[in-house]
Amino acid sequence: MKNISYKLAIISILLLITAGCNKRPDEIKRLQWCTMGTIAAVQSTDLATAQALRDIAQDEFATMEAELSSWNSDSTLAMVNRNAGRDLAVPVSASFTEILKLSTRITRDSGGAFNPLIGPVLKEWGFNGATTPSTIPSTRSLQRALSFADIADVELSTINSSNAVRLTKAGMQLDLGAIAKGYAVDQVWQAANEKKLTNALIDLGGNLRAMGEARPGRGGWLTGVRDPFNDSRIIARILIRDGEAIATSGNYERYVIIEGERCAHIIDGRTAMPIKGVAGVTVVAPDAATADALSTALFVLSIEEGKTLIKEHYPESLALWIPDSQPVQIISTDKMEQRLQR
Ligand code: ADP
Ligand code: MG
Repeated sequence: MKNISYKLAIISILLLITAGCNKRPDEIKRLQWCTMGTIAAVQSTDLATAQALRDIAQDEFATMEAELSSWNSDSTLAMVNRNAGRDLAVPVSASFTEILKLSTRITRDSGGAFNPLIGPVLKEWGFNGATTPSTIPSTRSLQRALSFADIADVELSTINSSNAVRLTKAGMQLDLGAIAKGYAVDQVWQAANEKKLTNALIDLGGNLRAMGEARPGRGGWLTGVRDPFNDSRIIARILIRDGEAIATSGNYERYVIIEGERCAHIIDGRTAMPIKGVAGVTVVAPDAATADALSTALFVLSIEEGKTLIKEHYPESLALWIPDSQPVQIISTDKMEQRLQR
């Protein structure tokens, strides 16, 4: 349950409001369960909608976990990683291909700040099952780990009309942890749309996507951004409209302490160094994979670089940053500023 944690950084405000109230017909019903190393939930005022959505989500999330889990040795991802450097391309599904293409796009757009090949670097810092080192890793070992992290070394090919992936250097490791949950939410959202479900919210570990609205006339689903320094406090509210998604990347739950320094689990794909100075980044985007990946990319980039990335490549997305300093402060893009309710 690595990620359960603060991932409820973004929560449905309606849930808070209704918790503890007497049952009313328009009360938001929330159904939740554990999957993909986190908590999944669906919400709707209509119980039948919530149940139908949960059934779709349970199936989709289980499928995604079988393909993309980095700690299940039977997953497609594990097979791709096991065959790194060998002359063998591993057949992958259409979803795997799409998520890899999306990851590659954001890697290029962010100048390598977002990097799904960061696995060997994460290990140097004591993540991904490695033992925490007693000293800060040397520049040499970090540079070596980075030499396995070039997106140009991932080969996507077609074999017998099916897609296949090959990591061309032994030692490369693909890690889709920064986008997989968002992508999984999109799969559910799409399947639920095809079944004409609406007025519901899908949530996988804080990656949320809206269908319709919470209650008639609300115009969407009101979500809350938690104070990263005090998780019982909501510091801003954001209405997400029909079809929109929201995600947060944060610093406060997963970290290691080396030589007395707190090192975050999000690492700069360009320099191999853990990110400092940011406590959280929240993104609203037209889909959940973009919100998830972009929140990680913006966590790595400086605020100025992040604003440029949005302007040039993701103009429909909105973002806010919470610096790792006191008093707590919110810095937003103009579009986010217009949407925020403080
Ligand atoms: P969470 O997994 O907590 O929801 P994120 O979506 O921000 O948060 O993803 C963080 C995960 O992404 C890390 O646990 C790690 O597996 C991976 N990661 C770390 N640094 C990067 C990076 N620069 N680019 C892409 N993925 C990263
Ligand atoms: Mg992410």
